Amino acid sequence: MPNPADLVDPGWDVSERQWVADYLAHGQVAASWMGVARCRLCLRVNGSRDLTDGSFLWPEGLPHYVLDHAVRLPSAFLDHIVRRLQALDQLARDGSWWRSHAACPSDE
Ligand SMILES: [Zn+2]
Repeated sequence: MPNPADLVDPGWDVSERQWVADYLAHGQVAASWMGVARCRLCLRVNGSRDLTDGSFLWPEGLPHYVLDHAVRLPSAFLDHIVRRLQALDQLARDGSWWRSHAACPSDE
């Protein structure tokens, strides 16, 4: 298991760390564990679950490492997050089903 202190990148852009942390914080719960993990850098309580996006699995406390300690994730994982966020940005909303199944005040 890597030591997170070896992965700290103080030059990592704060805004990029923020959206990476946001993505990580919104994973689905894959497992819950008895007891809590502590951050290995500041010892704060740092979660007790594993989260996933269906492709990767990470500890619930990973956003804290990214945002508060600038622990840089592997480039393959960062590239994956960028691709997922770009795909979400490109989704189009289709309201046709809703309009055909419900009276909408804006349609009256
Ligand atoms: Zn910490």
